[in-house]
Amino acid sequence: MSHLTTETFDANARAALDDKQLRGALRKATSMFGKRRLAAARGLENWEELRTEARAIKDEVLLRLDHYLKQFVANAELRGAKVHWARDASEANQIVCDLALQQRARNIVKSKSMVTEEIHLNDALQASGLEVVETDLGEYIIQLAGEAPSHIIAPAIHKTKGQIAELFTAKLGIEPTDDIDTLTSVARNVLRQRFANADVGISGVNFAVAETGTILILENEGNIRLTTSLPKVHIALMGIEKILPRFVDLDVFLKLLPRSGTGQQLSTYQSLITGIKHRAEDEGPEQLHIVLLDNGRSRMLAHPTTRQALACIRCGACLNACPVYQQIGGHAYGSVYPGPIGAVITPQLIGLSKAAQLPYASSLCGACREVCPVKIDIPELLLHLRAEITEGAEGRRQGQEAGGSFKKRTGERVAFKLFAAVMTRPRLYELGVKVGRLLQRPMVRQGRIGKVGGMLARFAPPLSAWTNARDIRPIAESTFREQWRAGLRGGTDSSSDI
Ligand code: SF4
Repeated sequence: MSHLTTETFDANARAALDDKQLRGALRKATSMFGKRRLAAARGLENWEELRTEARAIKDEVLLRLDHYLKQFVANAELRGAKVHWARDASEANQIVCDLALQQRARNIVKSKSMVTEEIHLNDALQASGLEVVETDLGEYIIQLAGEAPSHIIAPAIHKTKGQIAELFTAKLGIEPTDDIDTLTSVARNVLRQRFANADVGISGVNFAVAETGTILILENEGNIRLTTSLPKVHIALMGIEKILPRFVDLDVFLKLLPRSGTGQQLSTYQSLITGIKHRAEDEGPEQLHIVLLDNGRSRMLAHPTTRQALACIRCGACLNACPVYQQIGGHAYGSVYPGPIGAVITPQLIGLSKAAQLPYASSLCGACREVCPVKIDIPELLLHLRAEITEGAEGRRQGQEAGGSFKKRTGERVAFKLFAAVMTRPRLYELGVKVGRLLQRPMVRQGRIGKVGGMLARFAPPLSAWTNARDIRPIAESTFREQWRAGLRGGTDSSSDI
């Protein structure tokens, strides 16, 4: 499924809707995560205050990001880390490949990290002749399957136990079994050997503290702790937005992230890494390289509406709450960032010209905004991006930067201009109602237009996109204004009916 792209979202979504097994797996997993999140949030009395505080901290960082980045770099390097700056994916991949080649690395272990998925690091390492193995169980499963993750925190959420059992039999040569303990222990045995032989460990970063130069990585399986402490060289990649000003700020985010992601009060392991080890008996790597990635984030930072997407802490709660994601899963988005947050981040990272369908992959119900621990107003962002697509201005800019062309939605713009013209002119509106009432007559069946009428359903798109699945109510025989003029204004019986 890794061939799916953002440009074919509509077709991808249709194919996903036909996949009953996928939809069953998604229903089970998203509802389980949703219930756990709710229970965990209700367990904290000051949940709403924490969300507000977290957003304020993120806003503070994003407004002075240059200052906090400099502070982080100074403190991390003071403690022995080496910080690298990467403007885009290709620079970041080059830095990591060069570091691994300098080490003559033969075995690279890697822990789950969305930013490494974003830059397609594994492909770059393999192209440089380097072998890398994913050590998070879900990531290991999809690496074996040759797929991309379909959820931010649960990459193999779309796979059933039976599918994983078949995969292990085919790829690892084990006897067929769907016993979860057996499958887990097979993966553990393979991965332990990899850890023992690893030259380089690669990880992502959940939070980076400017005040101390510390990076924090959360996990449940212990693989990150092994990835970052067994090999002599640790390379950590992070987006520039991961900075927090103070160590004490972690208290807020450690309460919000695990509860929003998996419904846990705290993830099983929290690895706080500050610099390198200085004595032989200490734990940790001899070299720590931290790669700070921009890759379009500065562009998002420039606008107050798009800036808020950089507050995302990648908990995945908005995916589980989204009625669109619940039906189609992550692969249909054609991007490593799926769901509501993916629909706003991806077009800004790769350009609206390549992801123009994604901001429309939402009913704007607001469920994502309700659950977001940092109160990102995703519907506002979606509308902002839709406006840019319709107006074309931002699209032209991004199209140039991304090296692609961009087509604005002229039809939609004209339709809304007409709508605005009619709705702001009462006489024109009334005339439109009268004409519409006449035109609709042949299409109304049983008080409805659409499937029941069997007329509009045959109409060409875009009208049929609605009527293929739903009816629409016809214009009323008499409008409220007409009733008002005909006597409702002076009537006395209507109020007694209420
Ligand atoms: S947008 Fe909010 S809910 Fe969605 S992944 Fe980011 S932090 Fe979590």
